[in-house]
Amino acid sequence: MAGELQTVATYSYPIQAQLAKAQLEAQGIECFLADIETVYTNTFLSNAVGGVKVQVYNSDAFRAGVILQNWEKGALRPARDETRPHCPDCFSQETHRAPFSRSVMAFGLLTLFLYYLIPNPFVLLIPVFAVLYALRREEWKCGQCGRRFRPAK
Ligand SMILES: [Zn+2]
Repeated sequence: MAGELQTVATYSYPIQAQLAKAQLEAQGIECFLADIETVYTNTFLSNAVGGVKVQVYNSDAFRAGVILQNWEKGALRPARDETRPHCPDCFSQETHRAPFSRSVMAFGLLTLFLYYLIPNPFVLLIPVFAVLYALRREEWKCGQCGRRFRPAK
């Protein structure tokens, strides 16, 4: 192996450094963790020794830096999904499309009950329109705070 070792990243916790090492090794870069034993022995020493150092050979340093940068971007931030709207209340993207608007469903059931009272075929058209309206209406629900909302177009 060519050259000396160079520190490309430091982490406070051994697990972060080990995950980084796994990323680099998956890309075929030989990788060493310095001071990991010290930090394992006493986590509070992590700051004193400057964290766990991820070291690679000089010749791999640039590539390793790019890989770790991309990995951290992907690992620390949830993947942004442009098809999912943000919750207007808590800005969470943990949203999912509500299958039916609850109020429209209740309205449909109410008209079915109305048909039971007034057996006129035209009354049946009301729930049909209600369901068509519900299918057209795009309603989302926040998995974080439970708010139902319509995304801004
Ligand atoms: Zn929310």
